[in-house]
Amino acid sequence: MTDIPVRVRPEIAALPSYKQGKQAGATAYKLSSNENPFDPLPGVVAAVRDAVAFNRYPDALAGRLRARLADRFGVTDDRIHIAAGSVSILYQLAQAAASTGDEIVLPWRSFEAYPGIVTVTGATPVMVPLTDAAAVDLPALAAAVTERTRAVFVCTPNNPTGAVVSQADFDAFVAAIPSDVLIVLDEAYVEFVTDASAVNGERVIAAGHDNVVVLRTFSKAYGLAGLRIGYAVGHPRILDVARSAGIPLSVTAQAEAAALASLDAEDELRERVAVVAERRDRLVTRLREIGWDVPTAQGNFVWLPAGDRSLEVAAAFEAADLVVRPFAGDGVRVSVGEDESIELVVAVAASVLA
Ligand SMILES: *Cc1c(COP(=O)(O)O)cnc(C)c1O
Repeated sequence: MTDIPVRVRPEIAALPSYKQGKQAGATAYKLSSNENPFDPLPGVVAAVRDAVAFNRYPDALAGRLRARLADRFGVTDDRIHIAAGSVSILYQLAQAAASTGDEIVLPWRSFEAYPGIVTVTGATPVMVPLTDAAAVDLPALAAAVTERTRAVFVCTPNNPTGAVVSQADFDAFVAAIPSDVLIVLDEAYVEFVTDASAVNGERVIAAGHDNVVVLRTFSKAYGLAGLRIGYAVGHPRILDVARSAGIPLSVTAQAEAAALASLDAEDELRERVAVVAERRDRLVTRLREIGWDVPTAQGNFVWLPAGDRSLEVAAAFEAADLVVRPFAGDGVRVSVGEDESIELVVAVAASVLA
């Protein structure tokens, strides 16, 4: 590694450089980034094409989408904040809440971006192991909260393991956390959840906890990952400080138009999500049949707990033109993609056990 030619913060220099899910070749299935395998929902391409004022800055608040989402959640517009992906809202909230000497508590293994997001603020990530069922351990997260804690991240379904936390457990968790500590409920995969006992942000918002912010995205179920658009629902003043910490005008008019058109296609969305959930459940059943100890999967991905063999297992998938995401020493995450890919995944998963 060559040295950085200027003086930078050592804790930032020490972060691993960003590694994206591998791009797939023309013949391969890209199952490495939890993307949606479908074409855009009806009306989306036309809406993007018609939002063509490239010489103008977009509406900074994405007001039309904001009003539409506020309506959906039964809240006032000021309780919705739209940004260029929900990851950017995680950055904004972390920056607004925490700095040097503070802590942010998060589950681990969970979303790869979390520890880096915390480190960039100057705060310390406090990483709390998952339960034996590979779910976020809410009592352990609560026990890790101290005087220094400024925020707690909860990911459900948990990326990359797929398990959810229940509504009852989440409610008990909120009650156990000091009311001046921010709780971020990251629901990037909520649309795929079929477990009725799982926590749901709509219920959480309706319960009116001022310290809870719910994050959602158009990247996964809605298939708009490339356009970069996500949102937060929460207390207006928390969303104000997030906005203050963010880069203004990052949400393009095209992304806003695409999100609005996607919300218009609710029936098609529901159909697609049901198709993905059915493929996921079929994949989990097949993988368990052949001997893999796959945890509950409620997102659009499944987790193979391959441990020390994770890189080797991922290489076997890649050799079969299936691009998956290994987490060295831990496991391999496989996104639920095209129908034809399901049995191919099972075949490779069987071959590495043999
Ligand atoms: C994909 C994902 C997001 C959202 O990503 P954006 O594309 O930035 O909206 C947020 N949290 C988790 C856990 C994710 O997996």
